[in-house]
Amino acid sequence: MNDWVTEFRNDPRHSGIFLDFDGTISDIAPSPRGAVLHPRAADLLPRLARHYPLCVLSGRRVADVASLVGLPHIHYVGVHGMEWLEGDEPRLDPEVLPYLPALDRARAEIREILPGLPGVILEDKMASLTLHFREAPHSEEQVVHLGESLALRLGLGLKRGRKSVEIRPPVEIDKGTVIIRLSRGWKLRRGLFAGDDLTDVDGFRGLRYLMREGGFEGVAVAVLSGETPVELEAVADLSVRGPEGLLELLSRLAVD
Ligand SMILES: [Mg+2]
Repeated sequence: MNDWVTEFRNDPRHSGIFLDFDGTISDIAPSPRGAVLHPRAADLLPRLARHYPLCVLSGRRVADVASLVGLPHIHYVGVHGMEWLEGDEPRLDPEVLPYLPALDRARAEIREILPGLPGVILEDKMASLTLHFREAPHSEEQVVHLGESLALRLGLGLKRGRKSVEIRPPVEIDKGTVIIRLSRGWKLRRGLFAGDDLTDVDGFRGLRYLMREGGFEGVAVAVLSGETPVELEAVADLSVRGPEGLLELLSRLAVD
């Protein structure tokens, strides 16, 4: 395990660091609004970004995650890869655009139903709609059923999170495709991705894909909490205990 650390440190320009935000470099908050960047990350990430290509890759809207992290020289990607920043402007992937009318219809229906589901929060990300039931665990079955029926009827896709379901365009864009695209663009020879949730398995898959192509070493890091899905830990190269554990690991990559 020490070998990859040395390889990263010896060749930081070709070593990418990809990080999820919630539960990875921030502690899990009861509601999406409550999340803040881990204080240790605020200190460490700028030091890493001076040497390594660094990307924060979240399910949140890109402007949201960029302002929560609030650090320069980081590449921000939002909505699982469907949105990114060009300069300071959010850009939607053109593949997503044909599905915006169906998302509008889903949004209108959810808003009608939501008052009957106390504690369930709609996170409207324009390119996708996430229903959070962290504070309404008894509503899980109903929320999942609602997501499934809307997706089926409106020709949209559905993605399960840990305490959420996301209604999204049925396009092949996820954290894995983002890692593949950026790693090629940045001519990376190795990359680390750390995440804590089901959608981060896609990121691990992206690393594996690049490794099969050859000339690339991937390090998949599962950030464990009491809620870690077994699927994530099962496919990770290594596991760390919470954001604190991840930041401890990343601090070994600092070259100054
Ligand atoms: Mg997360």
